[in-house]
Amino acid sequence: MYREQLEAYFQDKQDMLVDAVCRLVSIDSVEGEPAPGAPFGPGPAAALEEGLKLAQEWGLITQNHEGYVGTADLCDKEDALHILGHLDVVAPGEGWTVTQPYQPKVVDGLIYGRGTDDDKGPVVASLLAMKAVKDLGVPLKSNCRLIMGTNEESGSGDIAWYFARHPFARDITARTGITFTCTSQDGCTVIHAKGEGSHAAWPEGGNNAVTGLIALLCALPLAEGPCKEALNQLNTLLPHGDYHGRALGIAQSEPIAGDLTVAFTLLEVTETGLTGRFDSRVPLCATKENCENVARAAFEAHGFTFEGEQEEAHHTPADSPFVQTLLKRYEEYTGQKGECLSTGGGTYVHEIPGGVAFGCTMPGFDTHLHGADERVKIADLMLSAKLFAHIILDMCAE
Ligand SMILES: [Zn+2]
Repeated sequence: MYREQLEAYFQDKQDMLVDAVCRLVSIDSVEGEPAPGAPFGPGPAAALEEGLKLAQEWGLITQNHEGYVGTADLCDKEDALHILGHLDVVAPGEGWTVTQPYQPKVVDGLIYGRGTDDDKGPVVASLLAMKAVKDLGVPLKSNCRLIMGTNEESGSGDIAWYFARHPFARDITARTGITFTCTSQDGCTVIHAKGEGSHAAWPEGGNNAVTGLIALLCALPLAEGPCKEALNQLNTLLPHGDYHGRALGIAQSEPIAGDLTVAFTLLEVTETGLTGRFDSRVPLCATKENCENVARAAFEAHGFTFEGEQEEAHHTPADSPFVQTLLKRYEEYTGQKGECLSTGGGTYVHEIPGGVAFGCTMPGFDTHLHGADERVKIADLMLSAKLFAHIILDMCAE
């Protein structure tokens, strides 16, 4: 629907994109000594200032979040899509031949310089995509927010800081169907979870806000401690959508009474502990041995197995509506088969449920990422900007 408008819009935007990438690449933004308002040193802070200035010049609503991240918004509506990029870079290292790391140079359709591909070029492509959506004047029902980080290369402390203060509940909403509203009250964040009521005997007829809220709390980068651990364990034993005690190991059924049901409906968390209550309706085949004892053992086992913590793999299912949107547009714009890939690279998205890495390098091109002569294909950035613009429209337009 927007394809023709976008093609026409981007027709004369290449110089604008290249200039913007060069502006950002000219700044040495390797991590340095923290200073007030510059938690990762003056370089990342300067790049952030420049990124925000650019976003503002391009008509977006900007905010500097105490030097940790900067945000650029399309509108003041609720966020439907977050794009994460970063303006810090890794040290330039040796062996540059085409140009110096912070003197960006365009040669044969490529921009050379530290950060051209990782990640200043993609940040500019995202900003240009947002500018396109804004300039086209399409009515929006939701916001797209670009979060520009300053510490991706050395710990991602920026994004952890940001999401601890701005919980983004929508991922979890897509997964659970629970609607979350977050408000600030006296320095605290109050989260309201709205599910759907149902009789405890037919819990699958409703949507349990308690287990949905636990899923959300587990996904947030809350301080580690006994409370977080207890919630994680509950999330394992009584995961959202498990209305038949499968995770507890007590799922069973017989033709007369049907399935065993579990409704976990009451949870109170205090400073000293937590108490929860679940209601289980058991079929005729259930006994103390195969039901009560099994459930008790499962709870006891999880109560005492908190030592160490293995980081879980990040996985976003290929059939999620978000990923399907990305793949569809990718195929449409590139003419290539879209498929999901996995990587061992640690990025922001690892900690973000439902998040994926997407763009801007097209298959078969070596950008020399983190190496000497880092470069990016201008055509790939332009294509990505178009693609991003269309996806923003898919997710945020009325
Ligand atoms: Zn990197």
